[in-house]
Amino acid sequence: MATEHPLVFHDPRQRVYPRSVKGTFRSIKHGILLLAYTVFFLLPYVRWDRGPNFPDQAILFDLPHRAFYIFGLTMWPQEVIWLAIFLLFAAVLLFFVTGIAGRVFCGYFCFQTLWTDLYMTIERWVEGDRTARMRLDKEPWSFRKLRLKFEKHALWIGVAFLTGVSFAAYFTDAFDLWRDFFLLQAAPAAYITTLILTATTYTMAGLMREQVCTSFCPYGRFQSVMFDENTKIVAYDVARGEGSQGRAKPKKGTGPEERKAAGHGDCIDCGLCVQVCPTGIDIRNGLQYQCISCGLCIDACNNVMDSVKLPKGLISYTSEKELRNEKVNHWTPKTLGYAAVLLAVAVWFAFSMANRSTLVVDVQQERQPLYVQLSDGRIQNKYEIKVTNKQGQAASYAIDVLGLPQAEVQISPNPLQVGAGRALGTTVYIKVPPASLKESKTHFNFRIKQQGSGESARYETDFYAPEEMVGGDDDDEG
Ligand code: SF4
Ligand code: SF4
Repeated sequence: MATEHPLVFHDPRQRVYPRSVKGTFRSIKHGILLLAYTVFFLLPYVRWDRGPNFPDQAILFDLPHRAFYIFGLTMWPQEVIWLAIFLLFAAVLLFFVTGIAGRVFCGYFCFQTLWTDLYMTIERWVEGDRTARMRLDKEPWSFRKLRLKFEKHALWIGVAFLTGVSFAAYFTDAFDLWRDFFLLQAAPAAYITTLILTATTYTMAGLMREQVCTSFCPYGRFQSVMFDENTKIVAYDVARGEGSQGRAKPKKGTGPEERKAAGHGDCIDCGLCVQVCPTGIDIRNGLQYQCISCGLCIDACNNVMDSVKLPKGLISYTSEKELRNEKVNHWTPKTLGYAAVLLAVAVWFAFSMANRSTLVVDVQQERQPLYVQLSDGRIQNKYEIKVTNKQGQAASYAIDVLGLPQAEVQISPNPLQVGAGRALGTTVYIKVPPASLKESKTHFNFRIKQQGSGESARYETDFYAPEEMVGGDDDDEG
């Protein structure tokens, strides 16, 4: 008789209790963690003198005034293309680095990894290392268990809140934010941002942890297309570890020579490489998409190899070619292609920065109505001009028109006085006798000239008149 099996879409979560470990890769991870946290949490408080009319926060994304301040660089909405260039550069750099060094971004630099690492450190402080945590979770509820769980979650929420406020501090004055936040005078956006970041940090780094990397992160799923046999991966040396008779636990009175003679490999099946893994996998089963290349299993195994007096490197950063004792070639057509794109994007960015203008002009023509016939027979078009002064001091800009003979230009005031880092709009009326026009749509330019420096910008637009009136008697009715 056929048996019905329920459909299972995914395996239920196996709770992971990573063990702490000491070693080279753990120290590198600690160093990067410290650096990343120092930068993220302290950067909003660093000041940067930009002159009297500008904020003095080194990094400030000033959304109300539509300006991004990044140390000495000020970006305006018109320069949002730089953000696109930067993101393109970051994406290609990620592909390039992944092609050569595997998932090092995941293991060392990803926000999810960094915050999860801190959350696990807090968990270890409060509840103890792996065995103590496993025992605590199996215990029935008691005052001690309640206290430990409360302390851990309170600290996690504290870190999440600090993360949320620190993120919001990049969008307003960081010192004012703290004062206004607790006086309930901060902008609603600051409270909403903090709330969202607090909730997501606590959930993703505290509750979901490795599941974010193994179940949700798309990068982990498509990384295999960037890998080839030259790519550095964390790998277990199967030939050395298993020998001809497989791995075996050490027996009393049996040394490395006896093990070798019995056909056993160097792996003593202690399981430490599995116990330290933050995603809970066994690297001895080969490269798996859950591996974030953090290197902690290398540290664990190297410590074991030291203690049993065998050479380190049973698990190591290596490549498939190195495992086969073949020469590695990092400069394949794929990596050369990535490098070429990186270089091109960098040159594009540098060129765009070097040729940036301090003056931005935007012109909108009134479309309803497109033109008006005045009582004296002339045709009038109306425009809105916005001048953005990206300099550190106020400047005045004279506006005139090129390419419209006999045009009368009415702008008030002219020149325009625009404050430092500010934008100012004005209405322009242009009146033209239709007899002086050759076509119903005439291209012309607004010229905006800064007084003093002589810097100028042109904006090409059109003047419209009724077809039947142009080039003829300007007394004709339109
Ligand atoms: S297998 Fe090793 S390198 Fe991969 S995630 Fe686990 S501990 Fe890190
Ligand atoms: S840590 Fe090394 S020796 Fe221990 S099980 Fe893992 S591979 Fe084998």
